[in-house]
Amino acid sequence: MTQLDYKRHVDGVIERIEKARLGVSDHHIVKMVAVSKYVHEVAIEALYTIGQRAFGENKVQSLQLKATALDALPLEWHFIGSLQKNKINPLISLNPALVHSIDSVELALALNDRLAREGKNVSALIQINSAYESTKSGFLPEASLQAYAQIQEQCPHIHLKGVMSIGAHTHDRPTIQKSFERTRLIFDQLPNATICSMGMSEDFELAIACGSTLVRLGSILFPAC
Ligand SMILES: *Cc1c(COP(=O)(O)O)cnc(C)c1O
Repeated sequence: MTQLDYKRHVDGVIERIEKARLGVSDHHIVKMVAVSKYVHEVAIEALYTIGQRAFGENKVQSLQLKATALDALPLEWHFIGSLQKNKINPLISLNPALVHSIDSVELALALNDRLAREGKNVSALIQINSAYESTKSGFLPEASLQAYAQIQEQCPHIHLKGVMSIGAHTHDRPTIQKSFERTRLIFDQLPNATICSMGMSEDFELAIACGSTLVRLGSILFPAC
């Protein structure tokens, strides 16, 4: 694909986001984070060149390699994967813009502890297992509000901004929609929350219709992979 064809392709994706967000309201803003876990630095640079700044990775080691290699570019890095305790230190040293995936109070406490030691803060979301799937991590919907409040109270170095969820793993649209609606309902009850991170390549328009304010798009933005 030439650079021009690639730009047309990405513009097409942005137009779809735009159409979906206008379907909600003129005032509804949606941010796009490009999930670069499938690609190398060259592809990230190509997308940066046509205007994308925010990128996401789901493994600390990949984030470390790519952020370091692309250090000269003003990129904004998001961490979207399961965070193991032994990866907290390297993650903190990368100063991520947003950690989407706080999935237990125990993890939050460990993260807060290391942040305190480094004299740092991080912005984060709690992950919600909105479709009650045993294969997914995250808080169950009914435990989310209490966990959010507890993390806010006990983890002053973690600045909670809202919630993240992965849509139900099925082709049944009503079931996916229900998982997004459940997530948005929790988001609406959180004090001062501004980010509702949901929607991926296969379901981002549905997620936006359900109130997503941030979509995480991987395969659709890197079609060559
Ligand atoms: C891989 C991944 C994405 C992007 O998935 P695509 O279907 O390729 O758009 C989004 N969120 C998370 C948490 C991921 O792991």
